[in-house]
Amino acid sequence: MNIWGREITNITLQLLLVLIIGGITGHIVILLFLLMLSIIVQQIIQINRFEKWIRKGGSAKSPKVKGVWEDIYYHVYRLKKSEKRRKKKLRVIIDQFRQSTEALPDAVVILGSHDEIDWSNKAARHVFGLKITDKGQRIPNLIRYPEFIRYLKSGNYKQSVILPSPIDRKVSLEVRVIPYGAGLRLLLAQDITQLKQMERMRKDFVANVSHELRTPLTVLKGYIETLQDMDDQNSPLLTNSFIQMQGQTERMQHLVDDLLLLARLETQQKKTSCVNVPELLMQICKEGDTLRHSSNRIELTLESDANIVGEEQELRSAFTNLVSNALKYSSDDSVVKVRWYQDSQLVILAVEDKGEGIAKYDIPRITERFYRVETKRAKKVSGTGLGLAIVKHVLMRHDAHLSVNSELSVGSCFSCHFPIKRICN
Ligand code: ADP
Repeated sequence: MNIWGREITNITLQLLLVLIIGGITGHIVILLFLLMLSIIVQQIIQINRFEKWIRKGGSAKSPKVKGVWEDIYYHVYRLKKSEKRRKKKLRVIIDQFRQSTEALPDAVVILGSHDEIDWSNKAARHVFGLKITDKGQRIPNLIRYPEFIRYLKSGNYKQSVILPSPIDRKVSLEVRVIPYGAGLRLLLAQDITQLKQMERMRKDFVANVSHELRTPLTVLKGYIETLQDMDDQNSPLLTNSFIQMQGQTERMQHLVDDLLLLARLETQQKKTSCVNVPELLMQICKEGDTLRHSSNRIELTLESDANIVGEEQELRSAFTNLVSNALKYSSDDSVVKVRWYQDSQLVILAVEDKGEGIAKYDIPRITERFYRVETKRAKKVSGTGLGLAIVKHVLMRHDAHLSVNSELSVGSCFSCHFPIKRICN
């Protein structure tokens, strides 16, 4: 018989006894009342004991009881025991996680929903100068760089932010925030000092080499021109060699100029002013037609009179590259459309040609340095493969971006999208 069966039998027997004695003595009601009272008092005593036991955590030895209460104590005891085991397992997992993140070379900080520090590893304490006692402090009060605070507040953590270490400014850190759980965030920081140094060395090397090549190239070009002037045209081989030499030195000069411009774009602060873009485009289109000896191939449409805050020389280089590419990579009798217009959010320069177009898989790569699409025509067209890399850099420095639409044998449209906030007239 189960415990509830025994309990009911017990009460039934007590009830029968009371009925018999009550029947003999004639006091059934009083005896029934006394029985009820005794059961209620017994239960109240048990509940009181149970409450005291559970208040102490329920892990102490349970009091000696019988019946249903014995079962209740036993089940609670078992629940408590399995909870204890689960907690122990969880503690081991958390300890393992903490030990492994503590040993990580990258800095890790767990942030709460109010930017407060929940936990940080050894590397974080080392590079950010945090202390174990900083737990609960808001991180913007400890890392006070405005760009970091802006990044943290923005809630847009797709990209990382590069900061100097607050305790050693020579150390560069790439900081990234990863949201997880309910309002929690993981802040990761990686020491990229070496990477930055190597990048700086590469930039310096390219800039120095390009600069050093300029003088010998100018001298070479000068001698070639003198020799060409002296050429009496008696030897076609010699004449042809001079033409080749002149062509190649010119190509090298373009290359050096483009590399120097790229180096400047990467390193120099820009001096901005309000650039009259319609005027600039008129000049570029006029020069484009003159340079390529084409008569009125360029069709310029100025639908907006917007001027842009920027660096005139840089914008001139970028726009010239786009117009000259459109002329270079399309047939000599086709029209190139240049359009300056705006909508509610953007001011756009579109350069459209009806040329050879670019294959889909080449489009993502054409802004890479030295990338040239291998086509029969491209082989004949001279270029450095740096033009669009320059365009991309210039646009990045003007909060703008380049969009390319192109179809093979149909044509291309290169558009520069400037945010409306750049307008200055
Ligand atoms: P390049 O000096 O070779 O013109 P760019 O960086 O300006 O270098 O362009 C990279 C490559 O992109 C070019 O070699 C060419 O293949 C392709 N390209 C650029 N503009 C156009 C265009 N308007 N039409 C077709 N192909 C183009």
